[in-house]
Amino acid sequence: MAIELDFPDIRAAVARLCAGYGGGYWRALDAGRHYPTEFVRALTAAGYLSVLIPEEYGGSGLPLGAACAVLEEIHRSGGNGGACHAQMYTMGTLLRHGSDEQKQRFLPDIAAGRLRLQAFGVTEPTSGTDTSRIRTTAVRDGDDFVVNGQKVFISRTEHSDLMVLLVRTAPRADSGRPTDGMSVLLVDMREALGNGLTIRPIDTMMNHATTELYFDNLRVPGANLIGREGQGFNCILDGMNAERILIAAECIGDARWFTAKSSTYASEREVFGRPIGANQGVQFPIARAHIQTEAAALMVRQAADLYDAGKPAGAEANMAKLLASEASWAAAEACIQTHGGYGFAAEYDVERKFRETRLYQVAPISTNLILSFVATRELGLPKSF
Ligand SMILES: Cc1cc2nc3c(=O)[nH]c(=O)nc-3n(C[C@H](O)[C@H](O)[C@H](O)COP(=O)(O)OP(=O)(O)OC[C@H]3O[C@@H](n4cnc5c(N)ncnc54)[C@H](O)[C@@H]3O)c2cc1C
Repeated sequence: MAIELDFPDIRAAVARLCAGYGGGYWRALDAGRHYPTEFVRALTAAGYLSVLIPEEYGGSGLPLGAACAVLEEIHRSGGNGGACHAQMYTMGTLLRHGSDEQKQRFLPDIAAGRLRLQAFGVTEPTSGTDTSRIRTTAVRDGDDFVVNGQKVFISRTEHSDLMVLLVRTAPRADSGRPTDGMSVLLVDMREALGNGLTIRPIDTMMNHATTELYFDNLRVPGANLIGREGQGFNCILDGMNAERILIAAECIGDARWFTAKSSTYASEREVFGRPIGANQGVQFPIARAHIQTEAAALMVRQAADLYDAGKPAGAEANMAKLLASEASWAAAEACIQTHGGYGFAAEYDVERKFRETRLYQVAPISTNLILSFVATRELGLPKSF
């Protein structure tokens, strides 16, 4: 028996929408590495990408738990929310730290689906996980900032009108906080492309529309600075916690998809004159993954509840992401093994979902960095870096 699912109406409606986009739809996109434009349009039109935008700006003003339910259901149906989930967490940076003028300018159009805010540019080739060492700079010149540098693995940039971009507006100081001196700019991709911004796609093991970005004297209006100059890291921190919780919900959806698929196949496939699922060697990994999933789901809900209550949720967001990504991987492993050779045949969707769910142990933050955060911040162990 799984834990009682919250937001049942939203879940049922999202599941109905996803039923129109079955395995064949996702397989064809995967084979050609195409973006799920049609699916994202349908999701936007139904209002699911703007659940977190307050009603005064045209959204539904629902809590993060509702957004978790949307993404979990997409993944539980066999689909992938990676194509569009960023709108949910990047929007928080604008909502919590943008000026009234910025919120009025952008949020209603985002809520109505006229503007896509799907790109979040943080990672760079030389700094890796150490965000304080990013080298992309923005220098004031008249009313504008002039941006130079490079980003890597920035997803959905070719399918987004706006990007939340983290830059350095002051060098990393030896004293003070290493994250001081960073700022957040809202880049209008439609104006930037070809005018100082070059996008180069990166081919990856799953269909994720991720890219490299090159900035060569890109001019961004000063009016697009979000929050205070030099305090940009604080502006994206909330968004990062939301991102971890939402992605943990996607992992729970994946895990539930894998386990349902494993249970069905193991009950139906007969070898040696009985269903393979009657063998405990087949049953136990499926049952273990289910137990891991249900425990992780409780932590995801706890993290979302803290976030929605405005309480510190950093530790829970990180723990939820670690537990959920490991549960989805355990469920994926059990599923591919249960399917024997058929697990590797594209038409079963198992190998596609297997590739897709592996990402979450690395992005948006790797398991090691979560362990290090919990060890040093929660348990007070000495720091190694
Ligand atoms: C498909 C995909 C989509 C992505 N989308 C985005 C996006 O939209 N926006 C964005 O900004 N980024 C994005 N990323 C980047 C992602 O967040 C990073 O890849 C991830 O945070 C890891 O950074 P890195 O690749 O530089 O690894 P590194 O920092 O180089 O780390 C490599 C390995 O070393 C380990 N490691 C590093 N330091 C330590 C340490 N001190 N102790 C122990 N272990 C350590 C890490 O755990 C990791 O396993 C995406 C990545 C992928 C693959």
